[in-house]
Amino acid sequence: MDLDVFRDPALARRLIDRITATATRPMTLMEVCGTHTVAIAKNGLRDVLPDSVRLLSGPGCPVCVTSNADIDTAIEFARQPGVTVATFGDMMKVPGSRSSLSREKADGHDVRVIYSPLDALALAEREPERHIVFIGVGFETTAPLIAAAIKRAHAAGLGNFSVFSAHKTVPAALGALVNDPEVAVEGLILPGHVSAIIGLAPYRFLAEEYRVPSVITGFEPVDVLQGVWMLVSQLAEGRAAVEIGYTRSVPEEGNPTARAMIEEVFEPADAEWRGIGVIPSTGLAIREEYATFDALLRVPVSPEPPVEIAGCQCGEVLRGVVLPYECRLFGTACVPEHPVGPCMVSSEGSCAAYYRYTDYGTA
Ligand code: SF4
Repeated sequence: MDLDVFRDPALARRLIDRITATATRPMTLMEVCGTHTVAIAKNGLRDVLPDSVRLLSGPGCPVCVTSNADIDTAIEFARQPGVTVATFGDMMKVPGSRSSLSREKADGHDVRVIYSPLDALALAEREPERHIVFIGVGFETTAPLIAAAIKRAHAAGLGNFSVFSAHKTVPAALGALVNDPEVAVEGLILPGHVSAIIGLAPYRFLAEEYRVPSVITGFEPVDVLQGVWMLVSQLAEGRAAVEIGYTRSVPEEGNPTARAMIEEVFEPADAEWRGIGVIPSTGLAIREEYATFDALLRVPVSPEPPVEIAGCQCGEVLRGVVLPYECRLFGTACVPEHPVGPCMVSSEGSCAAYYRYTDYGTA
C-alpha cells in the first residue's frame, strides 16, 4: 500500500483544523503504545495540536514496563553455569536492581542478542551442551511467535531450550489506568499492532464500564491525527465508544489464528507492571503441557529482592502522571548513551523518544 497519503501535509492540516474546532475545552488523551509515542515525537505532532489537547504517554513499551524483579530474574539466569541467555537487543542495557544483561555479558556470562525466537531455537540445536533460556518480553504481538517457537521445540523434542515468560497483555492494564484518579485520562489512542491480534472486543469495557472513548490508531502522522480527531469528536459529542481508525491493518475480529496459538501454549497469570503494580491476569504463564519449556521450572533461580533505581521516575512516566522531561534526571544524568531507567533505553521508551526527537527539557 502507498503510505504517502498518510503523510500528506495538506490532509494533516485539515485534520488539525478540525481538531482545533472540535476541542473547545481541555481534553487529556493518552497514547498507550510506545510506537505511537515515537511517531508523535518524531513528527512533532504535540507542537501542532491546539493547547486544548494534551497528550500523555502510557505504558505501551514492553521493555519499559518489565519489572525490576523480572529483569533481576533474567540476570540470574545468565549467571547459572551452562546457561546461555538469548534476548532481543532492547533488553541488554535495561537496568535491573543491581546489574544489567550487558554488564553480565561484560563480566563473562553468556548473553546473546537474537532477532527472533527461532534464532534461540537454532542456537539450542547448534549448541546442545548449553541450555538456552529465551527472555520472552512483549505484548500480544510477540507472544504468538514465542508460542510457535515453544510448539516447534516440543515437536522436535528439544531438551535444552526454555522460555522465561515475562509477557503482558494490554486491555486489563488500561482498565487499571483509567481507574486511577491520579491519571485522569479522558480518551485512549489504542495500539495498532496489539489490536491487529486481539481485535476490538477486549477493549469494549473501556467505553461500557468507564465511559472512556478509545480509538485503534495507525502510526503515520495522518493516522495519529485522525485518531485524535475521532477521540475529541466523541468527547465533544458526549459519546464513549471503541472505534477503529486503522482499518487498513486491524480487522474488528483481530487475528484468531494468532490468538489460538497464544491460548494453546500460555494461560493467564498475574503480572507486575513497572509503575502500576501487579495486575491480575495480565501475564502469560506457560501451560503445564509445555512445562518442560518453562525456564522458571527448568533453571530455578532465587534473585535477591528487587530495589528501585535511585532517582528514576519511569514508574510515574509509564502511568502518565509525570512527563519524561519533568524527571530531574532527564537529559542530564539520564541520556540514551548512559540510561538510568528503562524508558531511556528502549527504542520505544517515552524518555528516549522525547530526548531524541524533541527539545522539551533540553532547550
Ligand atoms: Fe527514568 Fe531516565 Fe526517564 Fe528519568 S529520564 S524517568 S531516570 S528513564
